[in-house]
Amino acid sequence: MADIKPDADFILWTGDTAGHIPTPEFSLERNLQMINIVTSTIKRIFPNTLVIPSLGNHDFFPADYTNGTESELYDSVCQMWSAWIKDPEQINNCRRVVNTVLYLIENPMTRDLDDPSRQFEWLESTLVNARLAGEKVIITGHVSPTIHAPSVLNWFYPQYQNRYVKLMTLFSDLIIAHHYGHEHKDLFKILQRDEDESGASPVFLPPPVTPLRRTPPDGEQGPPLNPGVRLVKYDRLTGKHLNYRQFYTNITEDNRLGRAVWDKKIRRHYTSLPHTSFDGIEITMFSFNSYRCSLIPV
Ligand SMILES: [Zn+2]
Repeated sequence: MADIKPDADFILWTGDTAGHIPTPEFSLERNLQMINIVTSTIKRIFPNTLVIPSLGNHDFFPADYTNGTESELYDSVCQMWSAWIKDPEQINNCRRVVNTVLYLIENPMTRDLDDPSRQFEWLESTLVNARLAGEKVIITGHVSPTIHAPSVLNWFYPQYQNRYVKLMTLFSDLIIAHHYGHEHKDLFKILQRDEDESGASPVFLPPPVTPLRRTPPDGEQGPPLNPGVRLVKYDRLTGKHLNYRQFYTNITEDNRLGRAVWDKKIRRHYTSLPHTSFDGIEITMFSFNSYRCSLIPV
């Protein structure tokens, strides 16, 4: 990507840096080693670029297990990422992105909690302050709310999904876009409450750098994917997302060469999304199969 866009305004690193390998073959120490290697590589290649990293469910040890109190992991990554986080208060609390792994339905540690790590409280006060300051907001994290299409698996526990979607739609006038990882697919969603179609935000889900073939619990193994990265064009004044380009590298050829070649020719360019406003995305959505997810009674 440095060859394609060496001076991006910022990089969203959406988590799952540790390998998707069975837990018995892993340890927290190995996860931290992998996160450290990727952190150092990004710092070397993009020394002057702000990076906003998230922890994925596979970055925790054991994978998926977190209630927000894993001090060794948090202390270590905050040390690695302190130059990017900058704000001492946020470094102390390790908060800049939303840790949606706390809400993941495969995480047994938060099944019966009310507000794990008091993140909803923090998130709401952050959004209130942003509204008072007249700011716009981009939400980023690892696991996205609502369904994993085309299966109808909900990623979040019902109580957290309801609260998250309500909060996000309440502040949708501030929220320019959401960006999450986890899916290992090139997707997007619209986040809205069924009863209030005015409160909606686009949710962007880029393809992964790791070429994992995902197998959801209620579905078949997905197709093979080449690694991908996404370059978003946005209006610096409003934050509005105008377009994005999708770059891929052919992993078979990369293995033959012994290095990754991000081919500018192998890309998707979404000129068909006029200004990627919510209206534009909604119109495009109707040309695809669409899957709707309702808030779940709890
Ligand atoms: Zn994940």
